[in-house]
Amino acid sequence: MSLVVQKYGGTSVGTVDRIKHIAERIAAVAHDNHHIVVVVSAMNDETDRLMTLAHEISAQPDERELDLLLSSGERTTIALVAMMLKEMGVKARSFTGRQVGIFTNNAHTKARIERVAADRITTALEQNLVPIVAGFQGINEQSDVTTLGRGGSDLTAIALAASLHADRCEIYTDVDGVYTADPRIVPMARRLDRISYEEMLEMASLGAKVLQDRAVVFAANHQVRIVVKSSFSEAPGTEVIQEHREMERNAVSGVTYDRNQAKVTLIGVPDTPGIAARIFEPVAQADIIVDMIIQNVGQDAMTDISFTVPKDDVPKAIEVMNCVSQEIHAKRVEVVQDIAKVSLVGVGMRAHSGVAAKMFVIMANEGINIMMISTSEIKISCVIEEKHVEAAVKLLHREFELDKASR
Ligand code: ASP
Ligand code: MG
Repeated sequence: MSLVVQKYGGTSVGTVDRIKHIAERIAAVAHDNHHIVVVVSAMNDETDRLMTLAHEISAQPDERELDLLLSSGERTTIALVAMMLKEMGVKARSFTGRQVGIFTNNAHTKARIERVAADRITTALEQNLVPIVAGFQGINEQSDVTTLGRGGSDLTAIALAASLHADRCEIYTDVDGVYTADPRIVPMARRLDRISYEEMLEMASLGAKVLQDRAVVFAANHQVRIVVKSSFSEAPGTEVIQEHREMERNAVSGVTYDRNQAKVTLIGVPDTPGIAARIFEPVAQADIIVDMIIQNVGQDAMTDISFTVPKDDVPKAIEVMNCVSQEIHAKRVEVVQDIAKVSLVGVGMRAHSGVAAKMFVIMANEGINIMMISTSEIKISCVIEEKHVEAAVKLLHREFELDKASR
């Protein structure tokens, strides 16, 4: 008997009507005699709503309490979905992260999964029940609730699919797959039939919001076959799989952007050995994820170091940097919030040269200033002023002919 894990995102469970709609889809799979495990997110913007409440109380809410609060969104959904299925005559049962046995480390609000027990899920399947699992949550060693970072229901689904050796993990969202660019900005954007884990990872971490980046890493490590689909249509979606030769035909597979970064600069840093370690160790200890780092050429034994962090982490980053700045006798800390990152992604970059140069020319012709650049084997990212981001995405999509490419 085949086993599929299906994950439904916030919009797919946003109202009772929508819950009814997905319950019908789930029921159809169960009636076809397939084993199915369902993972759900919180309804619509529920997590944001809870987050806002917490921030009305504190600028930096206690993270243990915040996790407990946020996890309640998914608990609501599992109960409603299970009720709906039972109403339709399908044997279903809801499970929280704790009940499933999703064990994590102690990094509240972005915990890592350390072990998935899943015995209760296996037992439920043996009893022909449809398990409805709360995404996004686990428990730490003390049995306190932890959450897996925003978008973490994807991770729950993929970790469960790996642990249960499911045939595939279907991620249902409000778009019908992964596109060459955000269709809201580029109407000509095309849906990709297939994409490699690596490309998906780059796209996910670069701001294409269909899948959580950490979930993609987990899927690649455990070879979980992912299909990204819409719960509102029957379209085939995009498969996320291992890279193969065919994929290299086009240099670029997609263009993405991310408005959620801020640039932190430490100005007037003594240019001596060990300085970078003294700056970034406390940043890591504060669980702040740094993306790009640039150290300028030193002058008079002084230098500037800039790096980007998610906007949410700016208050924490400022706090840490103010401390570090005093310790290492830097001049001052500067934060720029209105930046955005635009990136080109494609495994084909391994086989095609000149992609970076072409990207810079396109930006230059449009008078867009590039503040930071970073590259990997399959990606080029530029940090630019936020106000230019839409124009840059449109232009790059057109100039790299992403509307025409075939894959
Ligand atoms: N509800 C959580 C969030 O909004 C987790 C998820 O939807 O995947 O981030
Ligand atoms: Mg999501």
